[in-house]
Amino acid sequence: MRVVAVYPGTFDPPTNGHADIIERASKLFDNVIVAVGKNSHKTPLLTVDERLEALTEISKPYKNVTVESFEGLLVDYAKDKGAKSIVRGLRAVADFDYEFQIAMVNRKLEPEVDSVFLMTRWEYSFLSSSVVREVALLDGDVSTMVPDPVLTILKQAVARRLKG
Ligand code: ADP
Repeated sequence: MRVVAVYPGTFDPPTNGHADIIERASKLFDNVIVAVGKNSHKTPLLTVDERLEALTEISKPYKNVTVESFEGLLVDYAKDKGAKSIVRGLRAVADFDYEFQIAMVNRKLEPEVDSVFLMTRWEYSFLSSSVVREVALLDGDVSTMVPDPVLTILKQAVARRLKG
């Protein structure tokens, strides 16, 4: 039986921290589905298509990783895909409360799907999409924070936001 995992997130934009989790998850599971959540209440900087494009480029080296978007309950989506695991990344303490709560709720909703947490790497422990967005919107250099394919897409999105 193939062991399938879903790695869900907003990925607005994908960062080096996300890319690292994708690489590590690809070594732990037979198949990894990187899933861009569509029903976030946040107003995104990147469109869903831009995030899909960036994540597809990032995931290219890993033959067992696919990229999709999803709507609705994550556990329903995971079950649909035959995934028994939800992968999430953990940074400094701040992530724990939130992730713990979501994991508990997800287990209540669907006991068959378990959450698996991968600790961030030292160098990415303070890296978040929101930091990248803030720096990029102020025209700062984010080239050490995001994978190369994200840079061009992010530039377009920033120009669009500043225009409108
Ligand atoms: P969400 O809105 O679902 O939290 P994010 O795109 O912010 O979506 O994050 C998706 C997942 O990636 C989360 O589990 C988050 O903790 C993890 N993550 C984000 N940044 C990093 C990082 N620098 N290192 C490791 N994991 C990270």
